[in-house]
Amino acid sequence: MPYRAWFSCVAGCPGEHPLSQVIYRCPSCAGLLEVVHDEAALRRRSPAAWMRVFDERFLRTSWPYGSGVWGKKEWVQPMISADNVVSLFEGGSNLFWAERYGAQLGVSDLWIKQCGTSHTGSFKDLGMTVLVSTVKQMRADGAPIRAVACASTGDTSAALAAYGAAAGIPVIVLLPANKITAAQLVQPIANGAIVCSLDTDFDGCMKVVQRLTDTDRGDSGIYLANSMNSLRVEGQKTISLEIVQQFDWEVPDWVLVPGGNLGNVSAIAKGFMEMKRLGLISTPPRLVCCQAEHANPLFLAYERARAAGREMTLDDFEAVRARPTLASAIQIGDPVSLPKAVKALVDTGGIVLQASEAQLANASARADRTGLFTCPHTGVALACLEQLIERGTIGAEDRVVVVSTAHGLKFTEFKAGYHERRLGFESEYANTPVSITGDPEQAIGELHRLLDQRGD
Ligand SMILES: *Cc1c(COP(=O)(O)O)cnc(C)c1O
Ligand SMILES: [Zn+2]
Repeated sequence: MPYRAWFSCVAGCPGEHPLSQVIYRCPSCAGLLEVVHDEAALRRRSPAAWMRVFDERFLRTSWPYGSGVWGKKEWVQPMISADNVVSLFEGGSNLFWAERYGAQLGVSDLWIKQCGTSHTGSFKDLGMTVLVSTVKQMRADGAPIRAVACASTGDTSAALAAYGAAAGIPVIVLLPANKITAAQLVQPIANGAIVCSLDTDFDGCMKVVQRLTDTDRGDSGIYLANSMNSLRVEGQKTISLEIVQQFDWEVPDWVLVPGGNLGNVSAIAKGFMEMKRLGLISTPPRLVCCQAEHANPLFLAYERARAAGREMTLDDFEAVRARPTLASAIQIGDPVSLPKAVKALVDTGGIVLQASEAQLANASARADRTGLFTCPHTGVALACLEQLIERGTIGAEDRVVVVSTAHGLKFTEFKAGYHERRLGFESEYANTPVSITGDPEQAIGELHRLLDQRGD
């Protein structure tokens, strides 16, 4: 095979571990692993030739390359055969020009990367296709993997359950009781996963799944699907490749992304840095990691470093106990991908911001008024965008991309609560449905009165 990739320690310990090995941590320092590609092999094709190949494959039918992820197979996971790819045609999501919303905020070149317009309704599909395909390949090669398991704030479990079901691989999902939405819970149930609700929070579920899939005590036969498993990062990094591709290989000035466990911000940075090293772009955009104020450990670390007038390091970080937030998928106090995220932000001249519950909900509702339908996590990113525009950090002419992480329809309780003014702060954009008569003559009069009241 001309292209090769392997796991390596992010802290730089020597050693290459095959992608087909059941290994989640560095054997020397117990730190995170990342997938490293044979870039000399990738360099044998010129940047222009890669762009042409990617464009030729994009959203076409030649298996498996029509998928936004597998169209970049050589850069993502070259070590599996096409028949073991488990793809639901993920990626290729809409890059939405938010013209009216941007005009309201004072930026004319604002784009929303709609990663939630996807098979299970979140960007988690992008990583899960890579992880589950690798497991299918390992099983085909005789590895004794009985099941794949994850802890989840809702979207990871939905993606794992769908890809597992498509591949015929058993799935176990561990969910914090009463902390995910009905839409998120019903997805793994419908896909036939073993669905367990645990009397703890996400960080607690993470401890259980790590113990369950621990390789120190011998191989349990259960494979870990959380983003600590860096195969997922490889799929998610295609968000960056795709954004640049959708702009005809031009790089935006800013990319904002909500962050919880910090796998996605790390993945997005990895995509940009690899494109830079391989000559497809000359500089990455500035990344903005957007946290909920109720789950803001990275923001606190960033502020600590900023107050001291230096770049953020791991020593600035302290885990917090995450408080409940409307942005439930990022209610995480001790993010697994922290070391990768710190590097991602330093590499890209990044910024970390936070948004309060009222800010995230109002930003989400304001964007919806212009035709979007945003999840609360995307609301966090939009609230941070508003802050950067107000401060003048983001200029009126800058090209800005906000990564929308999930479909708003997964979070209807949030939307309903907002518009019914039940969230405990002022719903600035609440819209209340009105009951009117069924009598056509009277109804016409009432409707004209309602239109007059709006004045828009
Ligand atoms: C998982 C998720 C996030 C956070 O991504 P991390 O990689 O954990 O930082 C944000 N929004 C949604 C909707 C998610 O499902
Ligand atoms: Zn190491």
